[in-house]
Amino acid sequence: MIPLDIHTHRLPDEPGTAVVSLEAGEGLALPSSPCSVGIHPWHITGGWQTQMETLARLAASPQMVALGECGLDKACLKTLLPTERGAAFALQEEVFEAHVRLSEACGKPLIIHCVRAYNELVALRRRHRARQAWVVHGFRGNRQVAAALLDAGCHLSFGERYQAEALRAVPADRLFVETDESLQPASAILAGVAHDRGLTPEEFAQQLQTNYKNVFLHENT
Ligand SMILES: [Zn+2]
Repeated sequence: MIPLDIHTHRLPDEPGTAVVSLEAGEGLALPSSPCSVGIHPWHITGGWQTQMETLARLAASPQMVALGECGLDKACLKTLLPTERGAAFALQEEVFEAHVRLSEACGKPLIIHCVRAYNELVALRRRHRARQAWVVHGFRGNRQVAAALLDAGCHLSFGERYQAEALRAVPADRLFVETDESLQPASAILAGVAHDRGLTPEEFAQQLQTNYKNVFLHENT
C-alpha cells in the first residue's frame, strides 16, 4: 500500500495509509508501517546530539521513509527575550543541518517544518547542495514563497488550510497532501486539494502515488 497522507501525528485507522511523524528519542520503537523520525524545532533540548545518534541508528530501518519533522521556526522564538533569540535560532539551524547531513548520508528525504524562515531554508539547501528531497510540510505561504521554494528544488505538502493560488503554482510532481493535526480524514483533504487542482480525487491519488514512489521509495516511475 502507498501512503497518500505523508504527514500525521496519529496512527491511521488503516495501517500503511499515512507516514506517521515521531520524535527522536532513546527507546523509541518504530511501528511496522511507514514513519518519519526527527527533532522538531519546538522540542530541541540539550540532549539533541544523543537524539541524533538514535536517529542515525534508526535511519537504516526500511519503514523509516524520511527524517523529520525537523526545521526552522522564527515564530516560536517570540517567547524568548530578544537577546536570546539569535542563539536559539542558531541552535535550530545547527540541529536542522545535522538532519540534512544524515539525510544525504542515508539517502532519505526530509519532512520540514518551516515558519518565517524560508530564506534561511533556501540558503541552507543551496549551501549543502542537498540531493535528497526536502518536503516543506503544511505549506500555507503565498505563490511567491512557493515559487522560491520550488526554484530551490523543494517539494510542498498541503493540508487542511492553504492558499489555492500557491497550490496551483506547484508542478504535479512536487506535490503532496497531509492531515498533520487535522481532525478531517485524509480522503477529505485529498478531495479538496484535487478540486482546487481541477482533478478528480482518483486522478490526484494516482499522481500522489507516483510522487510517493519517486521521493520516498526512490522508484523512478
Ligand atoms: Zn506536524
